[in-house]
Amino acid sequence: MRESIAIDMDEVLADTLKKVIFQFNEATGLSIAEQDLYDKKLRTEYPEHVDALNNLLLDKSFFRDLEVFPDAVRVVERLNEHYDVFIATAAMDVPTSFDAKYAWLREHFPFLDPQHFIFCGYKGIVATDYLIDDNPRQLKAFKGTGILYNAIHNQSVEGYTRVNSWKDIEQYFLADK
Ligand SMILES: [Mg+2]
Repeated sequence: MRESIAIDMDEVLADTLKKVIFQFNEATGLSIAEQDLYDKKLRTEYPEHVDALNNLLLDKSFFRDLEVFPDAVRVVERLNEHYDVFIATAAMDVPTSFDAKYAWLREHFPFLDPQHFIFCGYKGIVATDYLIDDNPRQLKAFKGTGILYNAIHNQSVEGYTRVNSWKDIEQYFLADK
């Protein structure tokens, strides 16, 4: 029987943080760089600017033009030949993002069955064999095998296989295929 993999969107398939930092700096006049967020999140590091952060995320088109991480399309397409691939995004965190996220997935991953898109909140209910996610809170809730996608904010997280790129994911899941 084929095993199943759920894949997170933001900061796993999509370089969300790059656009967040760019627009956050524009809105606040700050000049934050990604490496300033080692083991930190904007939301907790700059509580006085949480409104600016929320406002940019609530723009209905924010998630529509995010860059796809290198090799993600090619490797997901390969995974899809050997596993049942699902996309699991905590879209409930930003309910205005649904349309843009759906359109983004259809544009970049047209080979995936939209019936395999899971727009959710808490990923403890996702019953796939694997979950690839950058968020340790979601991996902790998940009951299968969690794979931690490396991100600047999760540098001190331990207890999961850490992957640094889609080439790492290819190696982990497809080395023997
Ligand atoms: Mg994520």
